[in-house]
Amino acid sequence: MSRYWSPVVHRLTPYVPGEQPKLPQLVKLNTNENPYPPSPRVVAAIAGELAADGGLLRLYPDPNADQLRAAIATRYGEFGIGTEQVFVGNGSDEVLALAFMALLKHELPILFPDITYSFYPVYCALYEIACVTVPLSEDFQIRVDDYDVANGGIIFPNPNAPTGCLLPLAAIEQLLLRQQQSVVVVDEAYVDFGGASAIALVNRHANLLVVHTLSKSRSLAGLRVGYAIGQRDLIEALERVKNSFNSYPLDRLAIVGAVAAMADEEHFESTRQAVIRSREKLRSALLALGFSVLPSAANFIFVRHPQHDAGELAARLRQRGIIVRHFLLPRIEQYLRITIGSDTQCASLIQALQELLAKR
Ligand SMILES: *Cc1c(COP(=O)(O)O)cnc(C)c1O
Repeated sequence: MSRYWSPVVHRLTPYVPGEQPKLPQLVKLNTNENPYPPSPRVVAAIAGELAADGGLLRLYPDPNADQLRAAIATRYGEFGIGTEQVFVGNGSDEVLALAFMALLKHELPILFPDITYSFYPVYCALYEIACVTVPLSEDFQIRVDDYDVANGGIIFPNPNAPTGCLLPLAAIEQLLLRQQQSVVVVDEAYVDFGGASAIALVNRHANLLVVHTLSKSRSLAGLRVGYAIGQRDLIEALERVKNSFNSYPLDRLAIVGAVAAMADEEHFESTRQAVIRSREKLRSALLALGFSVLPSAANFIFVRHPQHDAGELAARLRQRGIIVRHFLLPRIEQYLRITIGSDTQCASLIQALQELLAKR
């Protein structure tokens, strides 16, 4: 607290990211990073950019990252997406922040699920956007009928976080048709692990913005690249806000690395399939230990044990060098969100849980 702060700063409750421990030997299953390295082509592209003594770093990057926008449009060519329909940013968190400002700040409150990505209310506070949360069903599903109220926009992740539950494309299309007066932002950070992307709907629905990240399914959380796809009108709003804030959100290394990642379909497909296989194995193993496990379309699972307190389990796992995410929030305080790690990491988790549950 300081009298020098702008008034809005006093009212902020900033997002708290999952811990990034300094101890390298920990089994880190708390922030949904990919256990596999990114495409080797990413490393080669970045090395290429740094060749010639890094001379290019002297120069500003392309403010519009056209090469990357074109690579993304090509990747989604089957849906008829053009380069001008792609917006890129410094991680999808930045893309989302700009979308809140550019598209979701109206008189009426915006809507999002009561259990969802906890960054959304943080952006609302920052931009002074009114919001109303819409409860998920008992089994944590989004019910599109519940969004039939006057609103200034709608946002949700699909699959949802931290539940991993997927809303089918048909339901999203129904929502888009019923909410033609509002922008609907679908945050598809995890869609590659089990969902069909709403990018397929973009050219039929002027009110749809789909947001993606390279942090999860392309193993590039450290590079900070995200993007949005929508009709030109929505993209222009994002560009206007971006160019009122930071003209160069992506540096040269991020641009060439991300271009290489988007082009390596083979690496993407094999790592994504490996994560999906490990998820199903881990799910069976946890069910066998007596956990209830929500069906997940993401690279994490959301679990609870009927006889063991979630906070205590998380603390005990941590003592054994395994970190998972526990949210002290209404309705989910007895759940743990566990990132799908490598098979070795998943085996360590199961081993530790077997010992913990037996001890009782
Ligand atoms: C991880 C995540 C993001 C942010 O991803 P970055 O691109 O790393 O900023 C956005 N939305 C949801 C729901 C996420 O889980």
